[in-house]
Amino acid sequence: MNVEKIMTDLEKKHPGELEYLQAVREVLDSIEEVYNSNPQFETAKIIERLVEPDRILTFKVPWVDDSGNVNVNIGYRVQFNQAIGPYKGGLRFHPSVNLSILKFLGFEQIFKNSLTSLPMGGAKGGSDFNPKGKSNAEVMRFCQSFMLELWKVIGPETDVPAGDIGVGGREIGFLYGMYKKLTHEHVGVLTGKGLNWGGSLVRPEATGFGGIYFVQEMLKTKGDDLKGKTVAVSGFGNVAWGAVLKATELGAKVVTISGPDGYIYDPDGISGNKIDYMLELRSSNQDIVKPYSYEFPNAQFHQGKRPWEAKCDIALPCATQNELNGDDAKLLIKNGTKLVAEISNMGCTPEAVEMFIEHKMLFAPGKAVNAGGVATSGLEMTQNSMKLNWPAKEVDDRLHHIMTSIHESCIKHGKDSSGYVNYVKGANIAGFIKVANAMLDQGVI
Ligand code: NAP
Repeated sequence: MNVEKIMTDLEKKHPGELEYLQAVREVLDSIEEVYNSNPQFETAKIIERLVEPDRILTFKVPWVDDSGNVNVNIGYRVQFNQAIGPYKGGLRFHPSVNLSILKFLGFEQIFKNSLTSLPMGGAKGGSDFNPKGKSNAEVMRFCQSFMLELWKVIGPETDVPAGDIGVGGREIGFLYGMYKKLTHEHVGVLTGKGLNWGGSLVRPEATGFGGIYFVQEMLKTKGDDLKGKTVAVSGFGNVAWGAVLKATELGAKVVTISGPDGYIYDPDGISGNKIDYMLELRSSNQDIVKPYSYEFPNAQFHQGKRPWEAKCDIALPCATQNELNGDDAKLLIKNGTKLVAEISNMGCTPEAVEMFIEHKMLFAPGKAVNAGGVATSGLEMTQNSMKLNWPAKEVDDRLHHIMTSIHESCIKHGKDSSGYVNYVKGANIAGFIKVANAMLDQGVI
């Protein structure tokens, strides 16, 4: 494989798809050596087949708002690869959504799902619809219109979407209701379902919890743990909430959360009822964290700033892609931060990642750290197939075990001769090998 040639060809074919090209380059750079020492991969053109999605569905989503106006959004489903199982990956509803972002997320999802050891292929979907500021009835009408197209390409053995930014339990409920009406079937076609109708315990917490279990494993390699550590978190959504909850439970002090308006610094730590307040903030239908500083006056609000300027031992991006750049990385390094783990997808820019690795810091990428979310979705699918519900402890134990084994895979494929673990390399190689071998077994299709 010639990485530069593949990237030049892809840039020509998909100009301007920056996030997608960034995600592909990161994987190719990591797997180049392994790929080139296994000529059967090149013969079967595994990479050329892996970087293009199997198919992309694009559709219009017309819906009527509460004032009677007709609105039109764009809907997408990118079915990337199903070599090891049915397509699986979340739906994102956010005004920034475009094909490049969904292709990057779908591509990453292939390797993440492979790392979980569960039989799931990679996909992603969503819309440029913004649920913020919309009434429940508007969100319902949008979701129903979205599903009127999506249902044609999904199914419990074909493609099983879940939530992501802007898609939580409420949206999954409306989407599921419409799917059920269209197909007359009550099946596990979506994950993140309500507990009374097929959902799994621990799914809402799973991405954040899994991320913290992974961080625990990273710290263990240095004989350390979370007790007494100061943690900076970005975002204030589902993933940030789960991460703050578990980090606090394990003895760390979380001092920041953030939104598009700026960040909150709480010197007393975000714990107890403050964590419950995060849920209130998130469901308040606004996109700001500032109200936290009115509710808890000891906390300071820093308008238009990112949390990476706060002094911390551990930094956890939990909001969106490329939310921590080279300048932020410099600040963190200067302030003595020891560990950065992306719980958001591709939370750090390539410059930031390069700096962390150059400084031999503990750094791990989203596809490993946040895999607990999709892993628990996989466990929800298993429970749906068995038609029973596991108790919370069983789900949490399985999640913990999966995160530990993903960490082991990263060590196996990412440790260099000096003992430093490059988690980016480790995660990409481990995720890739399983998918590539499955593709070899199944022929050119
Ligand atoms: P969420 O509940 O909707 O929260 C997302 C957070 O990020 C919110 O605080 C949001 O603020 C902020 N945000 C979104 N887009 C932004 C942008 N362009 N600029 C600045 N802030 C932005 O979503 P989530 O489920 O927590 O997802 C967070 C991250 O984790 C994403 O990268 C997602 O792909 C990843 N992830 C999620 C799961 C899961 O199970 N949910 C699993 C694996 C990975 P506003 O709401 O105000 O925009």
